[in-house]
Amino acid sequence: MSERIQFSIPYDVAVESYVKENYPKVRDYRIRSESLDARKANQGRVPTVHYTLEVVYGQDEFPSTKEDFKTIGPLKTPPIIIGAGPAGLFCALRFAEYGVPTMIFERGTRAHERMKHISKYWRKGELDPDNNVCFGEGGAGLFSDGKLITRVKSPYVQYVMDKFVDFGAPAETAWLSNPHLGSNKIRQLIGKITGYLTDKGHTFHYNSRIEKIIVKENKAIGVELSDGQKFYSDHIILAAGHSASELYQHLKEINVDMKPKDFAVGVRVEHPRELIDRIQYGDYSEEGLGASRYRLSWENPKTFKGTYSFCMCPGGYVLSSGTDDFGIVVNGMSNYARNSRWSNSALVVSVKAGKDFQVDDVLGGLGFQNAIEKKAYEYSKEKASGREVPVQNLKDFLDNSLSGKLPKTSCPSGIFEQDLRQVLPPFISEHLSNALEMFNRRMKGFVTDKALLLAPETRTSAPVTITRDRETLVSTNIAGLYPCGEGAGHAGGITSAAVDGIKVAMSILQSR
Ligand SMILES: Cc1cc2nc3c(=O)[nH]c(=O)nc-3n(C[C@H](O)[C@H](O)[C@H](O)COP(=O)(O)OP(=O)(O)OC[C@H]3O[C@@H](n4cnc5c(N)ncnc54)[C@H](O)[C@@H]3O)c2cc1C
Repeated sequence: MSERIQFSIPYDVAVESYVKENYPKVRDYRIRSESLDARKANQGRVPTVHYTLEVVYGQDEFPSTKEDFKTIGPLKTPPIIIGAGPAGLFCALRFAEYGVPTMIFERGTRAHERMKHISKYWRKGELDPDNNVCFGEGGAGLFSDGKLITRVKSPYVQYVMDKFVDFGAPAETAWLSNPHLGSNKIRQLIGKITGYLTDKGHTFHYNSRIEKIIVKENKAIGVELSDGQKFYSDHIILAAGHSASELYQHLKEINVDMKPKDFAVGVRVEHPRELIDRIQYGDYSEEGLGASRYRLSWENPKTFKGTYSFCMCPGGYVLSSGTDDFGIVVNGMSNYARNSRWSNSALVVSVKAGKDFQVDDVLGGLGFQNAIEKKAYEYSKEKASGREVPVQNLKDFLDNSLSGKLPKTSCPSGIFEQDLRQVLPPFISEHLSNALEMFNRRMKGFVTDKALLLAPETRTSAPVTITRDRETLVSTNIAGLYPCGEGAGHAGGITSAAVDGIKVAMSILQSR
């Protein structure tokens, strides 16, 4: 028998000594959740850490937390998974628990190879359409900051965390309220996951871009690669992420049910890390609390449009993360230690389907994103070499001016000064300006000439939902096709994409 206890203690008190002193009968404990509360630290309130512990007394032992899986063995045809991102990989991992091998098709290459291509893009502007920040083994998740926090409520969330720990993530990943792996750690894990799956009989096809879904009498029966090879299966899991624009075009051509989806567009804002830490932690900024985070949002009372921070990367880097050689897109990441000199976050404005972009074409949202990305690229080509990212001093953006004062940046692609109002649609710039003024009231010092805006942040989520049945998760009009993960509009972020992959695997397993 075990039981749970909860308490909050000052940040500089060790949990072990606190338990010893206050719960002397506890023989052993394991941490179930841990979260830092540094609210009002900038007003002198002592930061605290909230714990939930599972404890045992006397001779009692902890109950096992591992699920039991019954081996089913191979299905009639191995499921085909398109995309080796978190959704595709966790789908395969779940099948592996039941002894069901799959075939995984990934347009890009192995992680270590992929890194060389990404470097080439950042340093020389040579983009590989199949190996970049979004494409290649591990998906967009591989290269990301590795924040595993999710709003999704599912029992599979803990499974995902535990799996990451099994494959070598730090133990605290299983219990922190805000687990973060960092690009350096998550990259190592992905190789271990794919190695494990290969040992379990799953087949990986790298450098294998799926061009077509083969459909016969409204049923998906296979896939066709760009080199013409065909593979067949009763189950096609489409987990290609939110940047697979050619696949979206193909789905439209073969009339797969999709509907336009809202998303958000804006900029990355980058501050010196030390400045954000001081704003957030006040006198505690030197106390080793870790690079500080913030979350900001504001709804314009006239337009009811939201502007919010998103994917904040304390101690991180801003990246050029495009997938097309005619466009520029930015995103953010950090390493496990979160120790760069900068902290960045997306600041994005919600973009509504049918209001902010036309929906007579189901891919209207994709066109809206691409047009902004293209503009950024064209300015970059005109004013620099085409790989540099357009930026503006935050103060200049608000003053509608260009002062030539550009703070140092973490962005490895280089930057050039640009009036970002010429890159972004006017309604985005206007909402951003208003929101920045409001954010500065909440975080005094947020608006400063030490901060830089980098643009555009366009790929916040998929521009469509590939509709599916709520129960079976099968496409609403093509049997055998399972839209999955972020690209299908059913997840947003690493953990929720992984959870969706598991859900799809379970649905297929339960339907046999
Ligand atoms: C720089 C960056 C930082 C991020 N930071 C975070 C973070 O900190 N926390 C977080 O939760 N989320 C973060 N994200 C988002 C997160 O990475 C995604 O939400 C997540 O990876 C989505 O998972 P997915 O498996 O659905 O799709 P993806 O990860 O996009 O994977 C799709 C896979 O499909 C492959 N593919 C595409 N088209 C084809 C095709 N035609 N044939 C074969 N294969 C194909 C791609 O190469 C890719 O490997 C970040 C994203 C980026 C780009």
